Amino acid sequence: MSEFSLTRTTTPTSEAARKAALADPGFGRYYVDHQVVVDYIEGDGWQEPRVIPMSDWALHPAAAVLHYGQEIFEGLKAYRRDDDSIWLFRPDRNAARFVHSAERMAMAPLPEQLFLDSVTELVKLEKDWVPVSENEQSLYIRPFMIASEPYLGVREANTYRFAVIATPAGPYYSEPVKLWITPNYTRAAPGGTGTAKCGGNYASSLIATREAAANGCGQVLWTDGAERKWVEECGTMNIMFVTADGELLTPGLGSILAGVTRESILTLASEHGLKPVERPITIDEVLDGVASGQIPEVFACGTAAVVTPITGFNSPDRGVQQVGDGQPGVKTREIRQHLVDIQYGRADDLFGWLR
Ligand code: PMP
Repeated sequence: MSEFSLTRTTTPTSEAARKAALADPGFGRYYVDHQVVVDYIEGDGWQEPRVIPMSDWALHPAAAVLHYGQEIFEGLKAYRRDDDSIWLFRPDRNAARFVHSAERMAMAPLPEQLFLDSVTELVKLEKDWVPVSENEQSLYIRPFMIASEPYLGVREANTYRFAVIATPAGPYYSEPVKLWITPNYTRAAPGGTGTAKCGGNYASSLIATREAAANGCGQVLWTDGAERKWVEECGTMNIMFVTADGELLTPGLGSILAGVTRESILTLASEHGLKPVERPITIDEVLDGVASGQIPEVFACGTAAVVTPITGFNSPDRGVQQVGDGQPGVKTREIRQHLVDIQYGRADDLFGWLR
């Protein structure tokens, strides 16, 4: 267990103000009163982990992150159960992915234990900010790391800053969405950064989301960066198809983000009478399958919304196509409920996912 120094805020949020915030937290609107900060210096290693008041940072305008985007992040949630205990869902998977992202971006890999300790330290201190379980509210935790060294040459930075902040997240209703199959943009290329959770991936995705909206869709369905015919993932979620043959089909890992929710749902599939299958899937297979009924249900999955039903597709070639009857499918709803019940301690945690 790492030792954290603590500098308490002199202006803590009053109980009344926090209660008002938690009554309608939205997302990213309020932040807990403290942050964890750990600096890294090449040759000297990770410095003392600190808990400090939530406040702005001073950053040199030449800090490498501001110019060359050496930045990675994670996203996970803390859940309050009916008995008031507070739990994290598979934080070890986020810690491992953070190391993977750091390595891809040539950043200092943060020891997984330090990641876990930092998250735990902040959640323990800020436990009053974890909303009640009602309507699936939670505390969203954002660990991230930037290249902090002021240096304008293009090379790996010599100093990094790792930090953890957190924001209460209100009830998240997984509104069904339609996916836009963009002819113009891709998210990941062979040899690229698709498997890393780095800021640049999200910056470059925004224009495609704008295009999706202009075409009546909530999110983009990403295709591969070489042939543009293979399904990858959607928006900021992984994608899954329920087939008429009882498969739960999803693209294999390679250039997509290895989602924690994806991995968990594949593990739960058999409990819902579905065989988990990871293999390459073409856009044509999906659209033909949706048209013929071979693919009666489609959903997206990720930490934020857990499971989002996909009720249609729109593509320049084939126009708008509805999935099934345009309503969230039975398996989609079952799997979503199962995962949420595990997270809030209402279903057995057979795999020891909760900490
Ligand atoms: N794909 C992308 C691009 C994402 O940003 C996310 C969210 N982290 C996911 C998939 C889902 O991952 P997870 O289940 O770990 O939240």
